[in-house]
Amino acid sequence: MTKPFRFVSAVAMVCAFAWAGAAQADILIKNVTLYDGTGGPAVKGANILVKGERIAQVSTKAISGGSARVIDGTGKFVMPGIMDSHVHIKGGQRGSVFAGAERVPANDRDVALPTLRGFLYSGVTSVYDSGNNEPFIFPLRDDERAGKIISPRIFAAGGVITVPGGYGGGPTSLRVENWEQGKAGLDAKFAKKPDMLKMIKEEQGLYGSKAVPTLSDEMFKRITDYARQNGVRTTVHVSSEWQAQAAAVNGVSAMAHPVQRAVLNDSFVKLLADRKIPISTTLINYTQIARYGDADGVKFLDEPLFQAVMTEAERKEVVEEREGFVKIDLPATFKLGERYAIANAKRMFDEGVILTSGTDRGYGPFVHMELASLNKAGISAAALIKIATLNGAIYMGREKDLGSVEAGKYADILILKADPAADVKNFQAIDTVIKNGQRIDFAKLDLPVNHKK
Ligand SMILES: [Zn+2]
Repeated sequence: MTKPFRFVSAVAMVCAFAWAGAAQADILIKNVTLYDGTGGPAVKGANILVKGERIAQVSTKAISGGSARVIDGTGKFVMPGIMDSHVHIKGGQRGSVFAGAERVPANDRDVALPTLRGFLYSGVTSVYDSGNNEPFIFPLRDDERAGKIISPRIFAAGGVITVPGGYGGGPTSLRVENWEQGKAGLDAKFAKKPDMLKMIKEEQGLYGSKAVPTLSDEMFKRITDYARQNGVRTTVHVSSEWQAQAAAVNGVSAMAHPVQRAVLNDSFVKLLADRKIPISTTLINYTQIARYGDADGVKFLDEPLFQAVMTEAERKEVVEEREGFVKIDLPATFKLGERYAIANAKRMFDEGVILTSGTDRGYGPFVHMELASLNKAGISAAALIKIATLNGAIYMGREKDLGSVEAGKYADILILKADPAADVKNFQAIDTVIKNGQRIDFAKLDLPVNHKK
């Protein structure tokens, strides 16, 4: 495999230095149409003052910004930075997706860092990594928090919690055999300060897949109880309503996927709504893989955003992944499941379940594909603003600090050239990304879009 674009490494070093070193000026965005992320209507003629890392003031009255750098927002739109509540950052393991538990843990920052810049370029200012190699992901997260790398905010689970021989039971996982051994594993995990745990409640066995053991309800509850005592939220991989309901009853904080295998029962939807259990949507797991069966199944890779942030080699990997999926007939299978997934997403939305945009991918542009899928399922672009932002913060338990454009919150802000409530495509009409009060200089980002010049 060739290694193009070696010459840009000097540029990357300069950027990284500027990022870590200089405190940027305060920012005053004037006369913009604001969607604050809380689900309310557009506020026209809004002014937003960012001081340091935080939003200092939001008002339709004039704000005096002192020496703040002024951005004229006339004709433009502001919304909070997008959150992807289910990613797996690239570089934490090697091997194809088909290798499953055989994949080898890795610590490849050269792989990870360009993808992180690509998330920002796509308007994503926070990601929750829902399962990864701990020696890779936690130091990466710590460097993000220290301002050492150009990256969206990283929240991370570390290795998933499963059982020996269970789903996700690769080398980076905690395989719980009994409570003593499990508790020791959890204590070691808590010392690394995971932002939220990721548990597995998955028996497979449907659609012809091999059945596997999973955490018992009793063990599941012990883990969620212990996590709560330690102030750590929990999320769970599920696919059947049976297991999802057990997870909800046994204290899980959030779900990493919706149930996508059958039409949901009323009682289950009500349980999710009543207990305010947020669900990461991951609809493209179905809609995208179902499309892989079509002749134009990877045409999305030609779209401007994918071209801008993914190298040719990275896009080729997606094409190979598609070929592998076709070989095992997964697109046809997922076409069947897709109907349930779409209907369930809409139904949960209608019944007041908290949905948050999650992709289960490792690249920024996929969140726009996820939002388009949710839109196609019948959720309006206007409603998707909150699903793409504040609900992600709720999922991670960080809504006091993140997820909306309100005074006191961290300044993670998108300025768009077109109205996101009018058309979901406009979430991609990105003019400016501000993360942690700092404007991201797109022209200087070490990404394919800047290599082609
Ligand atoms: Zn995942």
